[in-house]
Amino acid sequence: DFEGRVLVVANRLPMTIKPKDDGEFEYSISSGGLVAGMKGLAKVVDFKWFGWPGIEVHRNDKDKVRLHLADNFNAVPIFLSNDLAEKHYNGFSNSILWPLLHRMPEKAGSETDWSKAYQEVNEIFADNILPYVEDNDMIWVHDYHLLLLPGILRDRLKKKKNLKIGFFLHTPFPTEDYFTILPFREEICKSLLMCDVVGFHTNQYAKDFLDSARIVLPGVARSPMDLHWAGRRVLVHGFPLGIEADEWREKLETEAAQSELASIQQQFKGQKILLGVDRLDYIKGIPQKLQAFDRFLTEHPEWVGKVVLIQLAIPTRADVDTYRVLREEVEQLVGRVNGKHATFKYTPVHYLYRSIKPDLLSALYAAADVCVISSVRDGLNLVSYEYVACQGKKKGVMMMSNYVGAMKTLPPSSMVVFNPWDTLRFAEKINQALNMGEEEREKRYKEIMKIVDTWTSAKWGKIFLETMMEGEIPKNVGM
Ligand code: UDP
Repeated sequence: DFEGRVLVVANRLPMTIKPKDDGEFEYSISSGGLVAGMKGLAKVVDFKWFGWPGIEVHRNDKDKVRLHLADNFNAVPIFLSNDLAEKHYNGFSNSILWPLLHRMPEKAGSETDWSKAYQEVNEIFADNILPYVEDNDMIWVHDYHLLLLPGILRDRLKKKKNLKIGFFLHTPFPTEDYFTILPFREEICKSLLMCDVVGFHTNQYAKDFLDSARIVLPGVARSPMDLHWAGRRVLVHGFPLGIEADEWREKLETEAAQSELASIQQQFKGQKILLGVDRLDYIKGIPQKLQAFDRFLTEHPEWVGKVVLIQLAIPTRADVDTYRVLREEVEQLVGRVNGKHATFKYTPVHYLYRSIKPDLLSALYAAADVCVISSVRDGLNLVSYEYVACQGKKKGVMMMSNYVGAMKTLPPSSMVVFNPWDTLRFAEKINQALNMGEEEREKRYKEIMKIVDTWTSAKWGKIFLETMMEGEIPKNVGM
């Protein structure tokens, strides 16, 4: 068990707040890897959440919201004006940091006041956290929206005894040639080096960070696992996130999921299902997937009418131009592929632009014969884990792009691995996946499931905090 308290800081609070007509607010808890991991952790440690509530709250309502969040969720809201939140989130975070962290500088945009907003929001977070911090606390900061926060907190909390600060990045970390494009790369490195532990999904990202830090800052000395700078020792390591597979199996057993599953099976009787579940983001390689499917149907006309691609495209960052352009491109491609291969009885691509509830998603996962993860860059990818968790009966095939974090955590020999840029070979891999025999599929399913069941999100959180507390990385962690 843990002695001190844990303060978890992320850009967004894990609850959504909606104003109601009567002047009150409606609160609902959101899902996701971070939230699921913390739920498991809550059993062993008392922790408080800090984050932006997602909407601008009028000053007369702030106290009411603050009180409700404290009493019901042990959470502290950090209020931001819409304008500032927009420049920090859609601006600097999603239009500069996100593309650069994914090595796609051509997708970046820039406006002069974004970087100021980014710094300001990191400062505002620090202002709001400071009054809550006591000796022996552990502060765990999450993700690319708050890269400057650890440095500010360390600076302003010098008087606290035995204060631990950890940082976890949920995206990839780029190689040094991309990292050095970043505005305030030195400040980012300095800030992260004020942590006790800096975690990434994989050891490859950790290594890329260590290499970058050494180039950007003079006086950085590194060994394979840690780094020394300005008299400090910082542990830098891979701590891959995971999922609570049991919860997915339970969702799938619900009546809603089972009836959805039956209806999908009825609808696509006699056809195989390829499945894509992605936020509509340019990192996900959705156009590449559509092109490979097109190519596959052209090269293998024997499959026309016998296989469909269900592509769920989850709306995301729709206010950012690059994402609007991507949506146009994807929807045009869907139209083109369907126009080319459809018959009166057959639609090859079933495209859904929406988000769906977890129980219905579990049914979709269970119904699919093949899951296709075609990202051109992806921090870890939890969809791959969730798919396998729902494949207890079918034992479907996992197709995974080389450029996904999960390639380092799940066994590559149990997946059909491909290069999303190589359309022709990608198409042949689809053929291979569809033709794989039952025995082989069962063997692969078991090998992947073993990892998914072992490296849960609760375990991820526990190991990260233990590392912060003990100052050593436990054995066998990270891949
Ligand atoms: N997901 C969602 N809404 C949906 C469908 C899926 O929130 O309509 C979830 C999905 O269950 C998964 C997450 O979105 O947990 C996607 O995580 P992943 O790591 O695959 O990619 P990310 O979106 O974080 O880049």
